[in-house]
Amino acid sequence: MKQRTLELMWSELNKTFFGGSLNEIPIRLTRSKQLYGYFTHTTNSGKPVIRISGYLNKTEEEFRDTLLHEMIHQAIHQYGLRDDEDHGAIFHQIAERIGVKRDYHGKYDFED
Ligand SMILES: [Zn+2]
Repeated sequence: MKQRTLELMWSELNKTFFGGSLNEIPIRLTRSKQLYGYFTHTTNSGKPVIRISGYLNKTEEEFRDTLLHEMIHQAIHQYGLRDDEDHGAIFHQIAERIGVKRDYHGKYDFED
């Protein structure tokens, strides 16, 4: 997976599942061996960013599922929704609607 391919995938998923409503943010391909994907809005620049591991995600389906998972976090943050926990009721409601299977971030921490 190339950085550019990942960005295009984000655009497509944004159109398909979020009506193109998500703000364009940096989507970074990483070599993380710990996290499949990660969304944070507490960056130095103050802008949200999505990081996707090119190491742990192998197939296109894995990339897609991980990216969608992080996009749900992005949507919840952008819309100012307050979930009861990191992967709470709102998260699961959206995940179910768009058919995201992955509900964890880490390779070893299945709670997160
Ligand atoms: Zn998550």
